[in-house]
Parts: sequence; structure tokens; C-alpha cells
Amino acid sequence: SAVVVAIDGTSGSGKSSTSRGVAARLSLRYLDTGAMYRAMTWWMLEHAVDVHDASAVAARAHEPVIVSGTDPQAPTITLDGVDVSTEIRSDLVNANVSPVSAVPEVRARMLELQRATIQDALDGPGIVVEGRDIGSVVWPQAQVKLYVTADPAARAARRALEEGGSDAARVQASLEARDRIDASRTTSPLVQADGAVHLDTTPYTLEEVVDQVVALVED
Ligand code: C5P
Repeated sequence: SAVVVAIDGTSGSGKSSTSRGVAARLSLRYLDTGAMYRAMTWWMLEHAVDVHDASAVAARAHEPVIVSGTDPQAPTITLDGVDVSTEIRSDLVNANVSPVSAVPEVRARMLELQRATIQDALDGPGIVVEGRDIGSVVWPQAQVKLYVTADPAARAARRALEEGGSDAARVQASLEARDRIDASRTTSPLVQADGAVHLDTTPYTLEEVVDQVVALVED
């Protein structure tokens, strides 16, 4: 029967590469919920909504049409029908995604979309879903739950490399700022979910991490 793998963790812990690798290896679908929050944030910025005004964000949270493609080899994200996969990785979105994600109306909207995508995937072999609150809020009944972390300096070095040679110290500051807000917000803070396995990826290669997670799923 279909499996749901919930992969939560801090920014740049390696959870995206891990999630995609596990999904590809096991022929599962893949959902990047961070990309959805990023698309929502991009929409607010484009529509000149003050992202620090929670009621302004809440009032418009139902408007953007966000669609996630769930192929782990080529995940896509569209906003009002337009591919925004590049825009959502910008510094501007990095700097503004945490306050937008803390708004309850935003989370309620995302929860609905995420649960519908997971439900669809249950007609097939299943799905790997990555985010901050998948094992705790979105799909607590997931068969496998992971809480992925990594040493902050290692995370920053990895993300700087992914971003094509950004300054590691600046990247580290940006990751830590997001994690502080994500962990301290009142709506769905990042926590280790009940039943989640803690995986510190610092000493491992991506392939080793994928192997460990695949073993947990096949267990
Ligand atoms: O995973 P990623 O770093 O792309 O997520 C971007 C931001 O989206 C996080 O810093 C967090 O504020 C928010 N997020 C969230 N809940 C999720 C996934 C992401 O609040 N399930």
C-alpha cells in the first residue's frame, strides 16, 4: 500500500536533495512545501503587500494559485500559471518567507493544498513530502518521519555551493535567521514530530543519507 515519508528539518540541512533522492529511488512522488510558501511570498511581494503586516497578508492569502509538479527528477512550481522556480530562490524571498509563513491563514491554505496532493499520491506508490511541519501537522500518520538537521557551517557551505558560489558567511546568517523565526513562531513551529527519527546529516554524503532513509522506508 502507499507510503508517505515526512521529511522535516532546518534550512539547508540537505532535506531537499535527500527527499528527491529517496523519492526517485523508490519511484514515489515528491512535494516541496517550502517552495509553496516561497511562491506565496513571491506573490505578496509582487502585489506590494507588506509582508510584516499579518492582517494584510491574511486578507489576500486565498488569491494566489499555486500548483506543484511532483516528479522528483523535475519538480515544478507555478504561480497563477507562471513558472516561478527561479524567482522563489531569490535573496528577496529568502528574507521575507518566514513572516509570510507565520500567518495562520497562509498555513491553512497551504495545509489544504498539501493534503490534497498527498491524498492524490495515495492512488499510486506514495510520496515524500518535505517541510517544517509535515510529520507534526500536515500528515502526522506518515509511515516514516524524519527530523533532519546539520551543523550550521556545513549547511551554509552546502547552500552557498548550490547557489553557485555565494558567500558562505552571508548564507549562514540568512539560514540561521530563518531557523530562529521558524522555530519560535506560534503557528506550527519547526519541532521534532512524535515518532520522528532524528538524522544529523553533517558527517554523511548525500548518497549515504539517501541510503539510510531508503532503509527506514523499506524496513
Ligand atoms: O524549505 P525551505 O527553506 O525552502 O522553506 C522556506 C521557508 O518556508 C521556511 O524558512 C519556512 O519559513 C517556510 N516553511 C514552513 N513550513 C513548511 C515549509 C516551509 O513554514 N512546511
